[in-house]
Amino acid sequence: MKDESETVCCQGVDGPCAEPAKLRRQNTSYNDEERNWVKMCDGCFEHNQKHWADMWADLNGGRL
Ligand SMILES: [Zn+2]
Repeated sequence: MKDESETVCCQGVDGPCAEPAKLRRQNTSYNDEERNWVKMCDGCFEHNQKHWADMWADLNGGRL
């Protein structure tokens, strides 16, 4: 089945996956705004958000 809207491939967390992806803003705060945006499917994005949430928890949790 073809979709009229352009289909974007998911960039995945550890590598590309086969799911159709959407452009989404992740919870990072890069100065370069473009890097805060990822093309991911629902599953990978959720995984990605958790990954970053853990990273921030580490950064804020003890060492600073
Ligand atoms: Zn994916």
